[in-house]
Amino acid sequence: MKRGKKIVFISHCLLNQNTLPTGRASFAGSVKELLELFAESGVGIVQLECPQMEFNNGLDRRPALKGGNENDSFRKNCKKMSSQVLDKIETYMKRDYKILGILGVEFSTTCGVHQVRNGRRSSPGKGVFMEELELEMQKKNFQIPIMGVNLNNVYSSVDKIQSLLKFT
Ligand code: SF4
Repeated sequence: MKRGKKIVFISHCLLNQNTLPTGRASFAGSVKELLELFAESGVGIVQLECPQMEFNNGLDRRPALKGGNENDSFRKNCKKMSSQVLDKIETYMKRDYKILGILGVEFSTTCGVHQVRNGRRSSPGKGVFMEELELEMQKKNFQIPIMGVNLNNVYSSVDKIQSLLKFT
């Protein structure tokens, strides 16, 4: 079988909900609808590291506020992680792989793409990791779509990703 050479980079918790803050998982393990979609489309999945798990109290943490994420070295760590992700993307691109997109998680103060939730309120904006990824991509002039998966409405997210796949 030939390699499909199509790759998507996705936020860690879309494949492993165990890294979400205590009580916040929407699925017991991974998001089956996304796994099925990419498996059926012949798309390889690269799982991003979870910045909150790595740099902010591991498994036993409470949901983070975006302002809290700005403190200490969290942003610096996200920046470093983003640069490593871009190196990986570059490795694939140099060998003619197509990077279809990066999937974040809406409402996360770290991986949100269009919406972040601060306490009880949601507002437009990106999470810290997605902001840093976008900045790193701008530096390298990479044109890779970043999309947010809404775990409260996975089917609408799947529809949007399907449209993205149609144009590749
Ligand atoms: S949204 Fe991002 S930071 Fe939050 S659990 Fe998922 S991968 Fe980790």
